[in-house]
Amino acid sequence: MTGTAVTPHASPLAPDWLSVPEDQARLDAKLWAEDVERGPDGVLRIDGVSVTELAEQYGTPLFVMSERDFRARAAMFRDAFDDAFAELCGGVDVFYAGKSFLCTEVAHWVREEGLGLDTCSGGELAVALRAGMPGSRLGLHGNNKSAAEIVRAIDAGLGRIVVDSLQEVALVGDLAVERGRQANVMLRLTPGVHAHTHEFIATAHEDQKFGLSLTTEQGPGQDGTQDDDAGSSPAARAVADALVHPGINLLGVHCHIGSQIFEPEGFELAAQRLLAFLAEVRDRHGVELPELDLGGGYGIAYTEADEPRPAAEIARAMAGVVGSTCRELGLTVPRISIEPGRAIAGPTTFTLYTAGTTKTVRVDASANGSEVVQDTSVTHPRRYVSVDGGMSDNARPVLYGADYSAVLASRAPGADPVLSRVVGKHCESGDIVVRDVYLPEDTGAGDLLAVPATGAYCWVLSSNYNYLTRPPVVAVADGAARLILRGETEEDLFRRDVQRAPAASSTDTGDTRTA
Ligand SMILES: *Cc1c(COP(=O)(O)O)cnc(C)c1O
Repeated sequence: MTGTAVTPHASPLAPDWLSVPEDQARLDAKLWAEDVERGPDGVLRIDGVSVTELAEQYGTPLFVMSERDFRARAAMFRDAFDDAFAELCGGVDVFYAGKSFLCTEVAHWVREEGLGLDTCSGGELAVALRAGMPGSRLGLHGNNKSAAEIVRAIDAGLGRIVVDSLQEVALVGDLAVERGRQANVMLRLTPGVHAHTHEFIATAHEDQKFGLSLTTEQGPGQDGTQDDDAGSSPAARAVADALVHPGINLLGVHCHIGSQIFEPEGFELAAQRLLAFLAEVRDRHGVELPELDLGGGYGIAYTEADEPRPAAEIARAMAGVVGSTCRELGLTVPRISIEPGRAIAGPTTFTLYTAGTTKTVRVDASANGSEVVQDTSVTHPRRYVSVDGGMSDNARPVLYGADYSAVLASRAPGADPVLSRVVGKHCESGDIVVRDVYLPEDTGAGDLLAVPATGAYCWVLSSNYNYLTRPPVVAVADGAARLILRGETEEDLFRRDVQRAPAASSTDTGDTRTA
């Protein structure tokens, strides 16, 4: 835990992990793309381009993405995992999880960096194909894929369709046969491991919508009958069905155990359980399935409190467990694949907002949820700084209670830090962008604020709530910015709004009740 610094400014309203910045101009490197820095004039720059120029040209809110940083993180995952697994299985296939952030330009970067790309809908698949991504390097996920999505995937010759249920084994297989093809299939299994940040929970039974359970169901089957499959798990039945289906080329098994994971233990346990399952498949069917996908979920830093492990460290830990488990089971090491999304896209981007109204409220410290009984006669200031976006461009604080940080971006700080809350402009009191951050007390109308680590699960979750227009995304590379997703206009908002037909006569006031 960081943030033990206690200065005269520390607010009792602040969470334990938040420290008062000693130098308000300093950027915490782990939160920012590698080419972001503060210039001598105090203005934030990305690859030499100042945020004041960006705001002038593109307006705010604005997503500002470093192309170089995205490519570097993609290459880093590719190389770190390839190195760690080189001797065991010749390397790792990295599939960027497109759901974290995707547009045609980003799909081009993924292709050029030699990664695969995972999609989880027909729309994401369309973006990937539009960027010329070869079907062989694409995956399709989903617990309820439509027949149209499956057909599109089969026709594009997808490298892998990740099948999620027993019904889908039959559906994918039959559709492939109809089209005179074989679908490449991985089976998504639920290994009973759920990981998040520092913890993981191991269970036998799964209570979630995704995947095929490794656990044998107790009690009568769904249809109350006993058949040859009685006593085997849904995962085992799916393998048996897939192996005999003429429309299916069964590659292996898959799991995805959570997100924002810092420690390798959850991945290790999931790998052990899936490898044990592959050994059972070998013993029962005499087949060693050639592939194992261990999913995504690698964590990133959103605030100073977050200290994710480097990818290379996690890769080495996972390789160690995969190697030893395969030796114990006498199993050929399958080809490993992984699906990082957040860890590639997240830190590449910051959101630029313009500050507007501010106010300071005085709060008694017990309102912070502190268990220590506080003297409620003593209150402390909390400063609210409103920005020109909010939950429509970053839903994560509302959806998940996610924490972010922010800095004054358009000038050098001119006053002492004060505990602040950055809020959006939506008609919701829960519309918080950054719950707790120290900002210079003189931050106010017209200042630009930058919120780092908004590259994943922000733009893709953006909405038109309150009829706000979705912000543009610019990519900065080689000292220049270019639009990769343009912002919406009012015209875009009305494009799908069906207007009533014009009135029939010129005397019609439009109010039919009084006509
Ligand atoms: C969301 C998801 C990922 C990516 O997760 P991150 O936390 O962004 O790395 C990978 N695989 C599957 C199946 C997913 O659903």
